[in-house]
Amino acid sequence: MSAETRTNLLLVDDRRENLIALEAILEPLGQNLVKAESGFEALRHLLTMDFAIILLDVQMPELDGFETAKLIKQRERTRGIPIIFLTAISKEPQNVFEGYSAGAVDYIFKPFDPEILRSKVSVFIDLHRKTEELQRASETLRERELAEFRRNLAESMPQIVWTTRPDGKPEYFNRRWTDYTGVPAEVAVAGTGESTLHPDDRARTAERWRQSVESGEEYEIEHRFRRASDDSFRWHLSRGLPMRDESGTIVGWVGTATDIDDQKRATEAQRFLVQASSVLGSSLDYRSTLKQVAQLAVPDIADWCGVDMLEEDGSTKQLAVAHSDPQKVAFARELSDRYPPDSAAPQGAAKVVQTGEAEIVPVITDEMIEAGARDELHLELIRELGLRSYMCVPMIARGRILGAVSFVAAESGRTYGQADLELAEELARRAAIAVDNAELYRRADERAQAAQVLATVGDGVCLIDGAGVVRLWNPAAEAITGLAASEITGRRAEAILPGWTELAPQVPVSSDPGTASTRAATVPLQIGERELWLSVSGVGFEGGTVYAFRDLTEERALESMRQEFVATVSHELRTPLAAIYGSALTIRRTDIELGDDMRDQLLGVIAEESDRLAQIVNDLLLASHLDSGRLHVSTERCDGRALAEQVVDAARTYAAEGVELELDAPDDLPQVEADPGQLQQVLTNIVDNAIKYSPDGGAITVQIAPNDRFLRFAVVDHGLGIPVSEQTRIFEKFYRLDPDMTRGIGGTGLGLYICRELVRRVDGRLWVESQEGKGSTFNVEIPLAAGAAQLTPAARAPDATAA
Ligand code: ADP
Repeated sequence: MSAETRTNLLLVDDRRENLIALEAILEPLGQNLVKAESGFEALRHLLTMDFAIILLDVQMPELDGFETAKLIKQRERTRGIPIIFLTAISKEPQNVFEGYSAGAVDYIFKPFDPEILRSKVSVFIDLHRKTEELQRASETLRERELAEFRRNLAESMPQIVWTTRPDGKPEYFNRRWTDYTGVPAEVAVAGTGESTLHPDDRARTAERWRQSVESGEEYEIEHRFRRASDDSFRWHLSRGLPMRDESGTIVGWVGTATDIDDQKRATEAQRFLVQASSVLGSSLDYRSTLKQVAQLAVPDIADWCGVDMLEEDGSTKQLAVAHSDPQKVAFARELSDRYPPDSAAPQGAAKVVQTGEAEIVPVITDEMIEAGARDELHLELIRELGLRSYMCVPMIARGRILGAVSFVAAESGRTYGQADLELAEELARRAAIAVDNAELYRRADERAQAAQVLATVGDGVCLIDGAGVVRLWNPAAEAITGLAASEITGRRAEAILPGWTELAPQVPVSSDPGTASTRAATVPLQIGERELWLSVSGVGFEGGTVYAFRDLTEERALESMRQEFVATVSHELRTPLAAIYGSALTIRRTDIELGDDMRDQLLGVIAEESDRLAQIVNDLLLASHLDSGRLHVSTERCDGRALAEQVVDAARTYAAEGVELELDAPDDLPQVEADPGQLQQVLTNIVDNAIKYSPDGGAITVQIAPNDRFLRFAVVDHGLGIPVSEQTRIFEKFYRLDPDMTRGIGGTGLGLYICRELVRRVDGRLWVESQEGKGSTFNVEIPLAAGAAQLTPAARAPDATAA
């Protein structure tokens, strides 16, 4: 019997001779006899060894047999070991009882019969053996059952389950593995088949597995397995744990691979949508945002992503094409340059844009590629792209198709399904909204700018709708006509614009804004008292007509004034010229004898008329200098009375008969601050006018009187007078009451304009008081020279005046 199969027997006695005796008795049983000389020693053996039976002496010092037995029975592991008490002394019944109650199977008195003892012990050895055998048998059974259970479990699991040897070599793959990958377990175990992992994930996976096998740490990785049913690569989460024996040594690995493709894609899709939305919302430049979105889609959502926009002419134009590899993009561009997309193709972005219907081709077959290829080279090039799955969705906002987004799977090996199509549609919807918003913003911006232009433009703009109602009346229109938009808009044009019904047909209305301004009509518009001359042009559109107009009233008045001026000046120049020419011709005549008197008279005419010519030319020059601000004014203290006196004296020499000139001025007048030459010119002009416009003669008085700041010259005539409505206008350049000179009184219409400008330049005033037919009084006020005020009578103290 080998040492391993021998059973342990524990012999406990404090006397060595007894132990030896027991040993001798039990020796023939051929078992392993373990001796202990005390209860403590016995307990120590029991800690490390398993025994079939314990022979225990009752009487022992320190820890007797009963106490030892109690301790043995207390321990779980030793409780079941049968104990036979041996005693020479304790034969009393209560001792025996105590022995049994301490858990003894027998109580034997010394001296004992060796034969009996041996046979009793061998019964227990037998029992022990049988129990052990039974135990082993049931353990094996349990293990086998467990293994069976485990295998069944692994086989029926919906996940891939595998085990490997401690060195990482595959050992087992469950049914799911074969079902999923199409690779038989034995092929996978032998490692003879082609890898089912995505080529891009192989190196990473191998490295991760090597780390785990070397370190014994848990194995976890996400990678793609090819699914046999549709030949697509799908994401899996693989996990592996080391199996260890009792000593902790790794005896193998068990692992699972779970298909997480749907979750992973859902997460990716969500992340992509969030990113795409934030890009779409980041700018109003939808072209650049759509390009970014296409770029975002690769490679997580697609290997290729393209965006096509619907152009105004109904064609589609590729806005973006993205792939994670720029070289591939260049290749695709070349391909589409060489073989431009066919807008009539039964499938593709152009078709989607036409129909507004999404397209999906989960698996692009070789037949499809063949059918779509134009020639052999095209076929070869498309095959090179390795297209596998495709979908294209329309971008629609507010019912309008704006374009299409296409997604193509190639090297990633994915195939598109319903969930992907929904994601694509959601993206296209968001992109369409962004494009639409950008468009709306642009239009709103344009409208705002247009409104601003309308508000600031100098031309009057008026929109009259198809029903003849004014819809728009801009600020310039208000300013030109003096009619507020609030009174005009919403009302019929003919009701608020007098004469509109007659005017409207005269205004050319074009349908092309470019030609409108070149064909403007100048029409009069009577608004209250005022007659406005407007240059109006119109552009018709489906909502009505837009009229643009410009105020030509002033230009027109100026124009007519200019025409009058030309007529006047030519007349004014012609008269003296004719006199000079006539006189000169007469002097040169040889056929008649001219007396000296006659010659002098003629020369006098020439001199006089030359003066008049010079005067006209001077006036013209002076007016032009005043206009351009080039006239020099140098003021000084001067005596207004003396100047007026000279003017009156000179006028008397050429005044017609019947005109009586008079100066009515006190002697002690204060001095004025003026340019004496210019002041004299002003007074001369006014006095000359008084004479000129008193054709029937009459008294003309120049009155001079001071007030606290000015010296006032009043030239009073009793001539033609000036109607009230013209009293301001006569000071305008070239303005004459009687431009046609029906009364035969000539003039350029510049005199009063010059006078008023000269007076203004010394801070004085010039105005007229007149009654038509009764005469006029022209008043000139010139500021007093500094310190001169004290001299004026009005400024003196009333007492002093009285004195
Ligand atoms: P003109 O060369 O025509 O005299 P003015 O500028 O001096 O030009 O005068 C402008 C117009 O004012 C004259 O044409 C005339 O109709 C009117 N006017 C000027 N002075 C008088 C006046 N004293 N009495 C009546 N009308 C006058």
